[in-house]
Parts: sequence; structure tokens; C-alpha cells
Amino acid sequence: MRGQRVAIVGGGLAGIAAAEALSRFPFEIHLFEAKRSLGGRAGAYRDPEHPSLIDRCQHVAMGCCTNFLGLCRRLELEECFRRDTKLHFIDGDGQTHPFEASSWLPAPIHLASAFGRQRYLTKPDQKRIAAALWEMAPPSAVEKYAGRKMHDWLVEQLQSEVAIRCFWEIVLVSALGAPLSEVSFVAARKVFVDGFLRHRKAYQIYVPRIPLQDVFDVQAALKLEERGVRFHRQTPVRQVAYFNSRFNVRFGSGSEATFENFIAAVPWHQSPKLFSPILKNLMPKLDNVEEIESSPISSVHLWLDRPLTNLPHAVLLDRTSQWVFNHGARQFKESTGYYYQVVISASQDLAGMKHDELSRLVLGELVSAFAAQPAPYLLDYQVVTEKQAVFAATPFLEGLRPTQESILPGLALAGDWTKTGWPSTMEGAVRSGYLAAEAILRKYDYDEPVGDSDLPVSLLSRMLWGLGKDEHRR
Ligand SMILES: Cc1cc2nc3c(=O)[nH]c(=O)nc-3n(C[C@H](O)[C@H](O)[C@H](O)COP(=O)(O)OP(=O)(O)OC[C@H]3O[C@@H](n4cnc5c(N)ncnc54)[C@H](O)[C@@H]3O)c2cc1C
Repeated sequence: MRGQRVAIVGGGLAGIAAAEALSRFPFEIHLFEAKRSLGGRAGAYRDPEHPSLIDRCQHVAMGCCTNFLGLCRRLELEECFRRDTKLHFIDGDGQTHPFEASSWLPAPIHLASAFGRQRYLTKPDQKRIAAALWEMAPPSAVEKYAGRKMHDWLVEQLQSEVAIRCFWEIVLVSALGAPLSEVSFVAARKVFVDGFLRHRKAYQIYVPRIPLQDVFDVQAALKLEERGVRFHRQTPVRQVAYFNSRFNVRFGSGSEATFENFIAAVPWHQSPKLFSPILKNLMPKLDNVEEIESSPISSVHLWLDRPLTNLPHAVLLDRTSQWVFNHGARQFKESTGYYYQVVISASQDLAGMKHDELSRLVLGELVSAFAAQPAPYLLDYQVVTEKQAVFAATPFLEGLRPTQESILPGLALAGDWTKTGWPSTMEGAVRSGYLAAEAILRKYDYDEPVGDSDLPVSLLSRMLWGLGKDEHRR
């Protein structure tokens, strides 16, 4: 490996994870990123009216995101995230329902009493939800309901409209990036098994304490530079070709360079055009990536003249707004503004709405949810909609995702959209980067895993449903 050069194209989480894994070995690693900063979709922007960086959209990880958390540990980024064990659901009447695991019960009953306290769900609804979770949990459900769309399955399981809207949808739409009428049962099952049923810490959420750009473009990059990784920002790659057992990389500037190894870590919609026709022929699945459905996420940033709530974040039920994150007091012009970020996943229905209209709708929802009196004054707002934020976890998705390893040694794909079994998340991106690194390492006869194992399955979940018995390392 010594002296062998690796080009990684794309400085999102997938590219960063690949660089992290390979930097444990004596490669010469070059990471090329088209934009000014690393982080990709988990990025931030500057606005002249606001002194601090603004995350394009709030990102959170969960306790089950073992590879993302492992990457953070290896790059000493743990301090950049806060771990929250308590969630809050706010119903249509403005009632707040805390949701926190018992301090001692094992999964899956650790959340039973928290679930029972969600009074916007009637007891019959809660019973039917529990019965549906019981039906979905065993590994055999994957085969039994393969190809099924989640909404159809929920109707079959006699779930009421309220249960679908206020329980299933609220968890799944943000995790899977599409309405329940489009997402697959298998993907939905994975969210519940990994996030709630297998381990008592899996549901906890990790919230960045500092802007994402500071996490990935500054702190992560610094650690990787110490390990010798060379970052080339604002260096778009136009195309890669293969000559004389080497990858010939042509940059947007017209210059070229050759490498023994190449990892493409760009999003699905940008991947096919990166490869010369000959290389593309070696990766037949790239022809199908256009069929991967993208889904938008809108992020509404509000600066108010007074605080709305002390809660750090809340899930809003029965509203357009889905999650609200409280970022506290921030400097705004010459004074102070209280900054809130509201996330709306699968926001395609809002496409025609003007930004001021959407901001006022969201503000109205926050005021009623938190019964804020007198109503705060809106100092400033910004709406950021990422049209291709995530891919939708439809029943066809898994058949479209390529593996990281190609048939050409030294050539690998990474990106949240490649085959990891995970939805479009930072965890999926990091897993893909680690799997791409493993593919490169196999060329040098190194065949050990570089990533992290899943959280272990609790004894009770194993006994109840046989969870974990069918699992390999990842
Ligand atoms: C609005 C929004 C909210 C989200 N919320 C969450 C969340 O709360 N939790 C969560 O886990 N996930 C969330 N996600 C998903 C998460 O951001 C992505 O899954 C993850 O960041 C994808 O990482 P990636 O490296 O695969 O791709 P990307 O982040 O897209 O990185 C690809 C990089 O490649 C670069 N690139 C592309 N073409 C070229 C080229 N030709 N040359 C050089 N560079 C190139 C791009 O500039 C980009 O930096 C969210 C995404 C969005 C958009």
C-alpha cells in the first residue's frame, strides 16, 4: 500500500469516512471536493446578516448509528454532539407528551410506558400499534411482506387514520424521505427494529452543538490532515477513465492526474456522468440510478424577538411542521434573535408555496403549539429546500443500489445511495465509505472490517422475535 495513491471524489460523509478508514494505512490519499467546504449535504452556509454559520438543514443521528458515531469517535468529534434521551411530542391541542425510556428496562419494553403516555393515541390505537409492531418485528416478516408498501400494510394491520398520521408517519417520513404510500415495508421495519426494538439506547438522538461545517470541514478535516489526507476543495472532477492499470482523473480545470485507486463518493444523480463510457460499462447498475427517486426536505429558519419554549426540540403532530429545534439566543444585526429551525421532510406538496407564506404558516403553528403569548415578532426567516435531499425508500430501491465494490480492483463507489441497507442518512453514507475502503483494501489482500458493528440485540428482543440471529457484521 505504501506510496499507492487513492483519489476520493466527494467530500460528504461517505468520502470523509472512506478517507478516515484508508488513512489508517500507508496510502497517499487525495480527496477532491467540488464545493468550498466538506460535509456535502450535511453542510452550512453564511448569510451576511447572521454572524454564525447556518446549517442548511438540521441534522441528527440516533444511537443506532454506530458507524457514524464510530467515525466521530475516531476523529475526536464526540464533543461536537449532544446526546438527548428525552423527546417531546406536541399534539394538535398543544399538549406536550414527553417520551423517554425507563432507566432500567431492556429493549423492547424500555419505551412501553413512554408510549402509553402518548395520550393523543387512544388505548385501542395503542393496542393495535403494539400488535403491528409485534407482527413486523420477527426477521421472517421481511420475506413475508417483501415488496409491500407501508401504507397498504398498515391498513391491513387495522391501523386507524390517527395512528398512521400521529405515530407511523411521524417516525417514518423523516427517516425514509417519502410518504407512507411510497415507502417499503422492509425499510420501515428496519427503522423500527434498529431504532426502537433492538437496544435501549438506539432511540437516543445526537444533536450537533456547533454548525455542521465546523464539525466536518474544520474539525474532521484537521484530524485527517494530521494523518496525511490531502484535501482539494473547489476541485470538481469532470471524468475518470482507466488506462494502463491506473485511473486517469480529469478535473474541471482541464488538468489531469493518475491514481492506482479511485472512490466515487458523489450523490446518485451525479454518479453516472463521472465515469468514462468504458468504466461505466463495468458498473451496469449505474444505468439504473436515474430510477432512484429523490425526495425534498425543507428547512424553515426563524429568528424571533422572544423565546417560544425551553424545550431543545419537539415533534409536532398534525401540522405541516414536523420537527422544531431550538437554537436559543443568537446575535442578529445589532440585537438578539431567538433562532428556531423547523424541518419538513418529503416536502413536495409545498413546492408552490412562497417562502414568506411558508414561514408564516410555520410560525403560526409554533405559536399555537407552544401557546406563546404574546405572539413573538418574526425578525427574519429563511427557507432552504433541498430538492434532492434524500432518496425515497421505495420497494424498488434495494434492486437499484449498487454495491461499493466493482469488478475492477481499486475502483469503488460510495455514497448513502449505494447498497448498505440503510436509508438516506449520515449513517448510510459513513457505512458506504467504510465499505468502499474495504473494497480498496481487498486489492491489497487486507480483508478485515474497518467499520463498527450494530448495537447488540437485547436478550429479550432476541427471545421474543429472534432478532439478531440472522445478522452478520453489517
Ligand atoms: C435537508 C436534509 C436533511 C437531512 N437530515 C438528516 C438527518 O437529520 N440525519 C441524517 O442522518 N441524515 C440526514 N440527511 C441525509 C444526509 O445529509 C445524507 O444522507 C448524507 O450527508 C450523504 O452523504 P454522502 O457523502 O453520501 O453525499 P453528499 O453529502 O451529497 O456528498 C457528496 C459530495 O460530492 C461532491 N461532488 C459531487 N460531484 C462532484 C464532482 N464531480 N467532483 C468533486 N466533488 C463532487 C458534492 O459537492 C458533495 O460534497 C439530510 C439531508 C438533507 C439534504
